[in-house]
Amino acid sequence: MKKTFNLVATAAAGLEAVVGREVRQLGYDCQVENGKVRFQGDVKTIIETNLWLRAADRIKIVVGQFPARTFEELFQGVFGLDWDNYLPLGSAFPISKAKCVKSKLHNEPSVQAITKKAVVKKLQKIYHRPEGVPLMENGPEYKIEVSLVKDHATVMIDTTGSSLFKRGYRVEKGGAPIKENMAAAILMLSNWYPDKPLIDPTCGSGTFCIEAAMIGMNIAPGFNREFAFESWSWVSKELVQEVRDEAEDKADYDVDLDISGFDIDARMVEIAKKNAEEAGLADVIKLKQMRLQDLKTDKINGVIVSNPPYGERLLDDKAIDILYNEMGQTFAPLKTWSKFILTSDEGFEKKYGTQADKKRKLYNGTLKVDLYQYFGQRVKRHQVTERG
Ligand code: SAH
Repeated sequence: MKKTFNLVATAAAGLEAVVGREVRQLGYDCQVENGKVRFQGDVKTIIETNLWLRAADRIKIVVGQFPARTFEELFQGVFGLDWDNYLPLGSAFPISKAKCVKSKLHNEPSVQAITKKAVVKKLQKIYHRPEGVPLMENGPEYKIEVSLVKDHATVMIDTTGSSLFKRGYRVEKGGAPIKENMAAAILMLSNWYPDKPLIDPTCGSGTFCIEAAMIGMNIAPGFNREFAFESWSWVSKELVQEVRDEAEDKADYDVDLDISGFDIDARMVEIAKKNAEEAGLADVIKLKQMRLQDLKTDKINGVIVSNPPYGERLLDDKAIDILYNEMGQTFAPLKTWSKFILTSDEGFEKKYGTQADKKRKLYNGTLKVDLYQYFGQRVKRHQVTERG
């Protein structure tokens, strides 16, 4: 099989640079593009990036790229790729996704069908199977994706399986959870470090708190789940175990963390507790029922991160106005604390009462949201204590 793979880590719009930074931290050079980060690596890289990237969606192998203005070009292009390096005889290889953007070939089901036909023909040739007899596809699954952008085809294999935001610790999610990889990205974009206190005053199912604890303890985000590549014959079980063992060694469960999550809804607090327990972090994160209006602290230099209710989803407009206003008043005395608030409400700053130091556009699924960033005043620990 292959030694070096062309790989992409896909990322939500606005988070590509964060994923790029993570890929570099793992020791790989990369190029950041819209929606993806490109890099190269071996089988171990595929395992490591799936296990460790906190902000990415998926890791895919780029099997090949070529111009495809006609079905014939598409067929020949797909047929010409080195499928024998990826698909052993007996593999299941659904063309799980076809996407056509600004291209002459625009009928996605046809693109899917032609791609399938070309891979089948190629495998029949490679494995000396008679044409006309269907290939058995009862082995491990390799999901193939084809995208056509401006008449240029990219053919990829997904290595991840269910998206990387699914860490495996979420037992229940409540009404409007933030995706785990988005929460991790926001924490990595914030100025929170594990030695600072962190509070999520609208913690819901506890996503920010759990992701922060995993960052703080250097726990691999994927430790609790499986990946598509684990069923592939050319990915050795021993190597996967080695990377998982290395991850276990890198985790530091003794680090002292000060992470708290509050929510007005007792039911949500119970859900957050269950999720924290599933992640093995029940003793690390403090979770309790409280209104954010009652938040007070003497601690300094902390970080508040919050994804409060917004829009029609959870509360009506008037209630939102009042909540954001009270949020502004409650947080105002915490001068040394930084605040990172994620909402789709474009009138947030006005209701909250202060203009953000910085705003960043992100997407929570398809919903455009903004991360409003307020930086705490820098003080040395002996200069000030705060009374809320
Ligand atoms: N980030 C969370 C989702 C937050 S949804 C997650 O990943 O699950 C917003 C949460 O704010 C809800 O759980 C809601 O119960 C809570 N909430 C609403 N008003 C509140 C208030 N006044 N004080 C504290 N929490 C509040």
